[in-house]
Amino acid sequence: MDQARIAAATKGAKTYRGNACKNPDHRGGDGKSERYVTNGCCVSCSREKALAYSRRMRNVLRALAVED
Ligand SMILES: [Zn+2]
Repeated sequence: MDQARIAAATKGAKTYRGNACKNPDHRGGDGKSERYVTNGCCVSCSREKALAYSRRMRNVLRALAVED
């Protein structure tokens, strides 16, 4: 496992600088990406996925509200 991840977990930190994300926009100046200690997922990717999901849900709920 990534040493930086172990170090972050030991400190009780939520995130660490880990492997570069497949999305170049998610890489910092050090060529690494911010990742969650718990699941190893890229923080930026997770944020984008959550945003996309809430946007989709908003549309679904709006569509349902119109039907009533
Ligand atoms: Zn990412």
